Amino acid sequence: MPAFFEFLLVALALYIWESTLWLPKQGVALRRSWLGKKWRVIQASALLSMRDLGLVPMSPVPPDIGLAPCASFPLAVAENGEIHVSSSDGIFTHSTARAWEDIRFSKPYLHVGQHRIRCQSPAVAQLLRDGKLQGLTPAEAIRRAWKLTLSPSRAKWELRKWSLVSSSLRLYPPALTFGFFLALPFVYFTFGSVATFWFSIWLWCLMLGCAGNLFWLAKRAYPGARGELRQDALLSLLIPFHAMRSLELASVHAFGTTHPTAVLIQANQANHPWLARFYREKIFPRPTHPGDAVIARNILPLLENHLSKYGFESSSFLSAPDRSEDREASAWCPRCHGMFLQGKKTCVDCGNLRLNPFDK
Ligand SMILES: [Zn+2]
Repeated sequence: MPAFFEFLLVALALYIWESTLWLPKQGVALRRSWLGKKWRVIQASALLSMRDLGLVPMSPVPPDIGLAPCASFPLAVAENGEIHVSSSDGIFTHSTARAWEDIRFSKPYLHVGQHRIRCQSPAVAQLLRDGKLQGLTPAEAIRRAWKLTLSPSRAKWELRKWSLVSSSLRLYPPALTFGFFLALPFVYFTFGSVATFWFSIWLWCLMLGCAGNLFWLAKRAYPGARGELRQDALLSLLIPFHAMRSLELASVHAFGTTHPTAVLIQANQANHPWLARFYREKIFPRPTHPGDAVIARNILPLLENHLSKYGFESSSFLSAPDRSEDREASAWCPRCHGMFLQGKKTCVDCGNLRLNPFDK
């Protein structure tokens, strides 16, 4: 095989490797097509996951301009003021942290008491830091963080900001991708190696454009993730495949403190099945997981308020599932909507939650 083709094959493999986002397992990436208005939900742990992280594949070509890798805030406060911390599996447990001294951020982990939480972006720590600067206690800062991350109007503003500040990153990476994989072989076989050299210099100028844009984002738009964006900028200068995915890589920080429910509600998609299930999980905490009730009390009043403001009837999420294809089922789980035959009283998947009987 000619060396040039071998080079292209290796390049393609590296490009595919760069076309993956590793988000904390509880993260949810929302995606919409270039022209579409509807968001689709991609659970970070659905395809492949490791201890803390789950994989979200990016669409190889064209760039994912409609990708919003959202994050769930990893802390909650109980009524007695105790701080609860989310594990990588989304289970909230009590921590020993009380004061600001018990909370620190060391990239990419937030250390809270005896717990360590993998964060999608340092912007999460920035939310807490802002609360501290305002003179709030850790518990107050956590409540404030939930208020901000769940707000649909803030999500709308974040989406608009991202669409404005990322406008050049929508041009450089696709030009670089097509230039590298299509135009470069064409130039090589048509005009020879000298022309290929000058064309490569032009491609590097595109990488420079990506890096410059990331430096600007770090300085002006997302100072909370300054270090990460600068690192991406440096890598974009050196590795063309990193520059080709710079839009998606930067979006991880742009939506690092935006909850997916806020994006769906502001887009009038509150009837999305994922959101309905998320709501049910908060209404029906698992009896075997005391932390479920704690996080539910942090989220539910805010979520219900936003849903009703946008004209959604949250009670519609609680109706029985459709059993037209499973007439044998006699009971259903109000949390996961699993259907069960006669004789079952509880749902094991939902911590032995009591089932509801179907109306005859
Ligand atoms: Zn269940």
